[in-house]
Amino acid sequence: MKFYRKHNALIIESALLVKSAGFLTAGNKGAKDAKAAAFIPFVFVRAEEFATPIFINHERIHFRQQIETLIFGCWILHICEDIYSRLFLKIKSPDYYLYRAIEQEAYRNQHDMDYLKNRKWFSLFKYITDKRKITFLENRPPEVMVGEKI
Ligand SMILES: [Zn+2]
Repeated sequence: MKFYRKHNALIIESALLVKSAGFLTAGNKGAKDAKAAAFIPFVFVRAEEFATPIFINHERIHFRQQIETLIFGCWILHICEDIYSRLFLKIKSPDYYLYRAIEQEAYRNQHDMDYLKNRKWFSLFKYITDKRKITFLENRPPEVMVGEKI
């Protein structure tokens, strides 16, 4: 485990912690694929190569969501959305993870480095009903293609 500051973020580099966070949020596939995680005020990365401005911006969007919902709200929201998307919409991994409002907001705005400066409080809640199809670009994490409304 390493601890450092990069791109103005407090980074904890630990493959084990990122795998564990990935498992908790998206099961075995999450454990295998997760590259970074957020728990305010720390950005966790599997390896230093993932401490990039886009990853850090993505995780900072999660920080803001965690503050707004006092952390537990994010968990409650994501559990409710997972139940809905998996049981009723029959969405499978990794798409149910990308269906979550917290990830919709983070992936759709991670490239905008001014997003958090201009973001209105509680913007997260807009993404409960505003869903788009998100597809990972192969071998270019965390870059995604944002598709049609779902
Ligand atoms: Zn995320």
